[in-house]
Amino acid sequence: MIYVVITFAVLLFLNIYCSNISQRLFYQSKEVSMVEKCLLASDEISALEVLNPTTVSGIVGQMGSLKVTRLIVTDQRSRALYDSSNQNLGDYVLLPEILKALETDDAAPRGNDVFSWNYHDGIMDSRAATPIVSYGTVVGCVYMTEYDTAQGALIASLQSTLLRITVLLELIVIAFSIAFSATFSRRLNRIMSSMRIIQEGDYTHKVNMGGNDELTVLGNEFNDLTERLRTSEQKRSRFVSDASHELKTPLASIKLLTDSILQNDMDIGTIREFVGDIGNEADRLNRMTAKLLSLTRAEGMTEGESEIIYMGPTVRRVARMLRENAKKAQVSLHLELENDTPVLILEDDLYQVVFNLIENGIKYNLPGGSLTVTLRREEDNAILEFRDTGMGIPEEAVSHIFERFYRVDKARSRQSGGSGLGLAIVRTIVRRNKGEIAVSSQLGQGTTFTVTFPAFDAEVDKN
Ligand code: ADP
Repeated sequence: MIYVVITFAVLLFLNIYCSNISQRLFYQSKEVSMVEKCLLASDEISALEVLNPTTVSGIVGQMGSLKVTRLIVTDQRSRALYDSSNQNLGDYVLLPEILKALETDDAAPRGNDVFSWNYHDGIMDSRAATPIVSYGTVVGCVYMTEYDTAQGALIASLQSTLLRITVLLELIVIAFSIAFSATFSRRLNRIMSSMRIIQEGDYTHKVNMGGNDELTVLGNEFNDLTERLRTSEQKRSRFVSDASHELKTPLASIKLLTDSILQNDMDIGTIREFVGDIGNEADRLNRMTAKLLSLTRAEGMTEGESEIIYMGPTVRRVARMLRENAKKAQVSLHLELENDTPVLILEDDLYQVVFNLIENGIKYNLPGGSLTVTLRREEDNAILEFRDTGMGIPEEAVSHIFERFYRVDKARSRQSGGSGLGLAIVRTIVRRNKGEIAVSSQLGQGTTFTVTFPAFDAEVDKN
């Protein structure tokens, strides 16, 4: 609506401006012709020896028709020596044009050529006055008026044509605005009703906008968003069912063990053994819930919480913590941390990444095997590498190991206290810190995890 009002105002302004310009153009041509006529008459009259009513009317008579409505000739004191309408003969004619034409000063010692105009009721009324100059002195003035109805009618018709064009254009604008807003609101309603459908939970619904405008883009964005919602909803429900499934197993074991103790007559040694198993299952439940919490926290955290740290000290700290595990598993742990580069990450985040990867490197190793952790710099990146000589991962499993609850060998992972969540946590943290994680593995030979973070100095240069 606001656009219609603005267009209307602009067209109205253009209409007024154009009709003014057209009047001005007409008057400019009129000014030239009338001032010329006046100058011609002034020239003729200035040749007279004496200026009086008789001599002036004589010379005007000789000039022939000047085609003006009224002609007045005055002396230098603006008294009429000749008046074609015979009204003011002998009187002082104090018309502004005459007074201005006779006025002399330093800037205009020979008087002024004057023209004035006015347009009313289809009549063009123009007036011109020029001084009569004899031997350098102003001795009188020639004044002419012209009422031009023909040109007046031309201006009137031009103005009415302009007005008609303006009205027509405005009607076209209004018609277009109505058609446009009807289409726009119909298309917008389509998006709104799709939103309602999706709000009710049907994430498979797609809005089909057609066309090729901003609303089409909005529709496509909306479909993308719905698709993402659908995927995340699918992930969420899979997570819930996976988690309940994982938690159900130790709980079922606990129930089985307690039922066995209650229903059978057992010696104290067997009961101790069963209670020990119950304790192990409870520990497993504990670890799993701790990891689930850790994963939920990692996913819920936003980017931006970070500090500038060197990775070496954290790797050393984790190695100290896990050295005992390595010893038990007969795995030798090597650290090559000389090429350390600062990165932007929370120390707690880095600790979790390093802990999970070193723990896996020991857990899935073989007695007599090794795990080497290396730090190095490659162009703008700081690289953290975990290379083990363990059992390796089968080719078809490599693409799944970062999924939640995925374990290559369920029995072995469970036995070693695995939950299938460690690598999912690692990938979430790495990605949140603008890093990447890659894995390469050969069954029976070993596995290498490579974590890449942008080096802090390179980040600073970029900003
Ligand atoms: P888990 O808690 O079972 O260790 P992860 O998410 O850490 O869970 O690992 C997922 C699976 O990937 C593991 O069950 C294991 O089969 C495999 N895996 C992880 N790290 C290694 C490794 N260094 N060598 C071989 N297999 C590994």
